[in-house]
Amino acid sequence: MIDQYGRTIDYMRVSITNRCNLRCVYCMPPGSPTLPAGEPLSYPEILSVCEAAAACGLRFIKITGGEPLLRAGCSAFIGELKKTAGIEKVTLTTNGVLLTKHLDALLEAGIDGVNISLDSLNRERLKGITSFDVLEPVMEAINESLKQHINLKINAVLAGADQEMVGWKELVELARDAPLSVRFIEMMPIGYGKQFMGSGNDLLLDYLRAEYPGIKGDTLRHGQGPAVYYTIPGFKGNVGFISAMSSRFCSVCNRIRLTAEGFLKPCLCYKEGIDLKPTLQTGGDLRRGIEQAIAMKPYSHCFDDLQTTGERLEQEPMIAIGG
Ligand code: SAM
Ligand code: SF4
Repeated sequence: MIDQYGRTIDYMRVSITNRCNLRCVYCMPPGSPTLPAGEPLSYPEILSVCEAAAACGLRFIKITGGEPLLRAGCSAFIGELKKTAGIEKVTLTTNGVLLTKHLDALLEAGIDGVNISLDSLNRERLKGITSFDVLEPVMEAINESLKQHINLKINAVLAGADQEMVGWKELVELARDAPLSVRFIEMMPIGYGKQFMGSGNDLLLDYLRAEYPGIKGDTLRHGQGPAVYYTIPGFKGNVGFISAMSSRFCSVCNRIRLTAEGFLKPCLCYKEGIDLKPTLQTGGDLRRGIEQAIAMKPYSHCFDDLQTTGERLEQEPMIAIGG
């Protein structure tokens, strides 16, 4: 579908749960108030929304959460989605902790790619960020995914403030001998992320240019998102930057987001959207709801003008949106 600003909307992030087994400081810090216990959509309900989205021309689905692998039946559901007419690719984003034990089922389901969130290769630092000692299972998941030749991306958010850009080089080095993408996502002022805003990816790219003089922009597209990629001589993988703050990519934004409770968000930054739950409950026209949400998609996000945006600003933490 084409929106009012001429953008093709062909990608939907679908959260299947608000629950998570980690407590990342910028997403759902330890001790933060628990989310209201809303009922998530059932798998058949989510499938209905995805079928309607496919009928509107959306072709790519990313399963997210919370931690999607915590919800029983995730892989089987992905298998169902893969059979849906019009859906070309289904991928998953996960913190990686439970991935190894689900890999076979995900492969059997036909998963097209996996993103693993990993913010540091330093065990203590990662524990400080996620509140759990998880480096080992996450590295195991990375290695097992590589063995199975899964299209793999490692997503790192480098928390700002005092420990700015710590550990970026070790993360980049993951792409030296392995055919994976290491992507740096700029912290966004959503929920608890506001407290961790730091320098953006511009600074990081300067560091990379100084460290790897042969680094070059990669014109190939590696996925359906706004990441900009670079190659480094001698590396099997590549490095990507997702720079919502320093390089506003709204003019090419192709996505909408479905929360676990069935709220369809046209933009991460604003709280507006269309609640599809009543439509699901009454057997109404889901396509109409999806078209309405796409029609509401704003020209750009509001992260650099939070004061003016005021009441319209998204207040939910990222765990409840899906990233
Ligand atoms: N639990 C899964 C995971 O960690 O990949 C999926 C959900 S998580 C909300 C999706 C992504 O959002 C993660 O890569 C996480 O680092 C990122 N994220 C969370 N809060 C963020 C923020 N304030 N700014 C930028 N990215 C954020
Ligand atoms: Fe959980 Fe992912 Fe949020 Fe971390 S970023 S608390 S793993 S949902």
